Amino acid sequence: MNDRTFGFATRAIHAGTPPDPVTGSRAAPIYQSSAFVFGSTEEAAELFALRGYGHIYSRISNPTVASFEERMASLEGGLGAVAFSSGLAAQLAVVLALARNGDHILCSQNVYGGTVTQFSITLERMGIAVTFVPSSDANAMRAALRPETKLLFVETIGNPAGSIADLDTLAEFAHQNGFPLVVDNTFASPYCCRPIEFGADIVVASATKFICGHGTTVGGVVVDAGRFDYGTARFPLLSEPSRGYHGKVFTETFGEYAFLMRLRAEILRDVGAQLGAHDAWLLLQGLETLPLRMERHVANARAVGQHLEAHPDVEWVRHPGLPSHPDAALAARYLPRGAGSVFTFGIRGGRDAGRRFIDALELWSHLANVGDAKSLVIHPASTTHSQLSDEEMLAAGVAPETIRLSVGLEDREDLIWDIDQALVRARSGNGVRR
Ligand SMILES: *Cc1c(COP(=O)(O)O)cnc(C)c1O
Repeated sequence: MNDRTFGFATRAIHAGTPPDPVTGSRAAPIYQSSAFVFGSTEEAAELFALRGYGHIYSRISNPTVASFEERMASLEGGLGAVAFSSGLAAQLAVVLALARNGDHILCSQNVYGGTVTQFSITLERMGIAVTFVPSSDANAMRAALRPETKLLFVETIGNPAGSIADLDTLAEFAHQNGFPLVVDNTFASPYCCRPIEFGADIVVASATKFICGHGTTVGGVVVDAGRFDYGTARFPLLSEPSRGYHGKVFTETFGEYAFLMRLRAEILRDVGAQLGAHDAWLLLQGLETLPLRMERHVANARAVGQHLEAHPDVEWVRHPGLPSHPDAALAARYLPRGAGSVFTFGIRGGRDAGRRFIDALELWSHLANVGDAKSLVIHPASTTHSQLSDEEMLAAGVAPETIRLSVGLEDREDLIWDIDQALVRARSGNGVRR
């Protein structure tokens, strides 16, 4: 064996998928099987006792899904990964692995609208309290701490204003107070930022976005660094005998794998939000071109952002990769390869001009997604953030005139042509599609 550490682009293609040892298949085989035959009763018993490695049933693990998990762990620089049926399932599983009724979590204010509702409504109903904090305000963060706080959740590039998490500082804060830092890395992808390198303990992502890259598949993933010590009184779910697993103490039995094992063997097993083999295969296809795609996404988004900044019908542009963004310095530090391709701008003329603009676009698709090869556009106030109160919306950085772009891989001249003609029609009020 060699001791070479392969580069990111090599791992995006090869990690987790050696040629199939049985058939020689070079592409990852799709193991579309619900269950797997045991070699013997002895082997079956070992697997059920979590003493051997192998597949039992595809709700818990599957070889194609395992390839995707291994590749994601490699790209994020983690110890291992567990895939889920969606990004929201992945982050819910992280919370359930660490917290229960009576516990508390801290979450940045600048997060995806679906995360706000999942945490503030569904978790609250389950008895897990959530405090949304401005994660750049150390005093506010300290004031929100409780003895039962189990984690801090932030986004690398925050939704939707493009705020950048100061990962080093946040990791130090979390660790000093005895809990892990969980980072949603969806908007950056591991190409632009690997939060584990800056102290994050757990990375979650909606694989639906840049990881898939083609708008075809909903999926999620959790990557664990394997560094956080859960063997403390704050984490009885891992440091005390588990009723869910024959009285096993996860931290004693599995060491650095404790969190990953609890996530898979208890949470995934009990919740059943597993990724399907075919979906995992589509995500593996996406990952092969992640570095190439991200490079073009970043360049196109920068070009579109600069064009908008110079446009008279645009009030403001909030793109963390441009010097005008308040977090530009943090972006340069944590996202040296670029700040992704999702950003917002404010159209002159407010809500009505925003609606006319979107209706007048020819090439950009109006839909609720990001990270597609196709360029996408949405008006958050009437869609993704419509469940939030005006106050919550403003706290999350959404105004009536805000338009969010996810810049795709088309020719940038065509993207800019479309924006220009739609801005003209938005101004004149003639936004009706031909
Ligand atoms: C889309 C998204 C999610 C949710 O992921 P799903 O795959 O849609 O469940 C979470 N966080 C961010 C930042 C997202 O963009």
